Amino acid sequence: MNTQVSIEGSAAPEKNSAMNINTQLFINGEFVAAKNGGTIDVLNPATGELITRIAAAEAEDVDLAVSAAQKAFPAWSEMPAAERGRLLFKLADLIEEHTEELAQLESLDTGHPIRDSRRLDVPRTVACFRYFAGMADKIEGSVIPVEQGFLNYVTREPIGVVGQIVPWNFPLMFTSWKLGPALAAGNVVVMKPSEITPLSTLRIAELIKQAGFPDGVVNIVPGYGYTAGQRLAEHPDVGKISFTGSTQTGRNIVNASTGNLKRIQLELGGKGANIVFEDANIDAAVNGAIWAIFHNQGQACIAGSRLMLHESIADQFLDKFIALAKTIRLGNPMDANTEMGPLTSELHRTKVLSYAKIAVEQGGKILLGGTVPEDENLKNGFYVLPTIVEAKPMDRVAQEEVFGPFVAVMRFKDDAEALAMANSTEYGLGSGLWTSNLQRAHSLARKIKVGMCWINSYKRVNPGSPFGGVGKSGYGREMGFESIHDYTEAKSVWVNIDAKIPPHLERGTS
Ligand code: NDP
Repeated sequence: MNTQVSIEGSAAPEKNSAMNINTQLFINGEFVAAKNGGTIDVLNPATGELITRIAAAEAEDVDLAVSAAQKAFPAWSEMPAAERGRLLFKLADLIEEHTEELAQLESLDTGHPIRDSRRLDVPRTVACFRYFAGMADKIEGSVIPVEQGFLNYVTREPIGVVGQIVPWNFPLMFTSWKLGPALAAGNVVVMKPSEITPLSTLRIAELIKQAGFPDGVVNIVPGYGYTAGQRLAEHPDVGKISFTGSTQTGRNIVNASTGNLKRIQLELGGKGANIVFEDANIDAAVNGAIWAIFHNQGQACIAGSRLMLHESIADQFLDKFIALAKTIRLGNPMDANTEMGPLTSELHRTKVLSYAKIAVEQGGKILLGGTVPEDENLKNGFYVLPTIVEAKPMDRVAQEEVFGPFVAVMRFKDDAEALAMANSTEYGLGSGLWTSNLQRAHSLARKIKVGMCWINSYKRVNPGSPFGGVGKSGYGREMGFESIHDYTEAKSVWVNIDAKIPPHLERGTS
């Protein structure tokens, strides 16, 4: 992990004016030091140098945040929905106004190439907040056609205090995916960003205050998973946890949540099958496959990390794919020409590199990369070269989530074999199909066990489209109307509209 805790007594961190961010915890509308004065060093993944130091939330701080949220809940949930929407629109506008600042902060903290932060991370964050701002006053109930004499209507009510645990791969964007639906539906939030990449979320906390959200509606408590995260997951007054991260941590969260049987929504790992058939537009598929695995250095749960090629086009495809991968410009994330930055932490780079060794041990063939770049300018950052490995479907590199710029290539002879290979992992998140045969595309899209399938495309997301997986990729959905269902409880109300004693209540009847 590229962070370390240091306990500094009362020397709590304060605002980092140079970067215009407040480095303290955001609880009840105020920035405050952690109770025990603990801090965490946040490092620049491109250089390994210290960016800043932030306050480290522990259980006691999480308790304060939950209790602030609880106090804020009645007024927030009873506020006219359109007014909640207005505040979310205001926040989206403020984020848009600060696009360049937020893009730079995100790239500095995560290693995302600045061109991606500018054109994807920030605009997608704005779009997501706007989508849910507009949704706030459209969360309708329903009327059920029951027997004569009765009216039965169903309303959707907020859950209450929601705990949200955000990983380090897309911290800014995931902040909007989680806050947007939760707040639109009238919940209050305690969010724990990853301690590795907390900076954009802390800046969002300031913009939340500036937008005029009531105190306590959103609380941001960066800290370690085993302390702050664990407390949030087991807290008796938290009604739901929304978690994005590894399958193992998802399991730990489910175990920690049983005390009050809180609701859980899990967006976990993936091992995306990206399948290219013999009738595909090869150049489009090559470009799509590059994007699928190398965007954000492959640190994406939906990454196309298994590239499955029909045997008749595999050699031709690989020639083009490898040639294009060699042209990817690795470099300083802040350089507008950079296409691939460093991985987000040193520990994670070690994990990704270990898979090159594992691939070879199992008989895999490294076709490109598998090491760090030789460029002297990149030697202190956590870089890994684009890596392409030919492997067998049940090899570890074809089964386990590497979460880096690392793709396992496999060949298939027909649709049945492609489908069996695609469904052979324990995950089921994203997948891609490249073909000009419409019938094949729709037939396979139906049979692949995943939450999302892209045809002649890969890795498209939109705030209106549900995002999530099946199997060990988790359950529940983010975004779209589906997410509103996940952030509300259905309440069924029965009214005796004839005001007569219904037959089943009359004395002597059963
Ligand atoms: P984790 O799942 O461990 O971490 C994700 C978040 O959960 C972090 O904020 C983490 O805090 C927190 N957390 C950890 N333990 C607990 C706990 N017991 N209770 C509550 N919260 C907890 O992922 P890693 O960062 O360790 O990455 C490991 C692997 O997970 C990656 O290589 C990748 O395969 C996968 N991953 C998948 C993601 C996705 O988008 N689905 C995102 C990130 C990772 P802390 O950092 O302090 O542990």
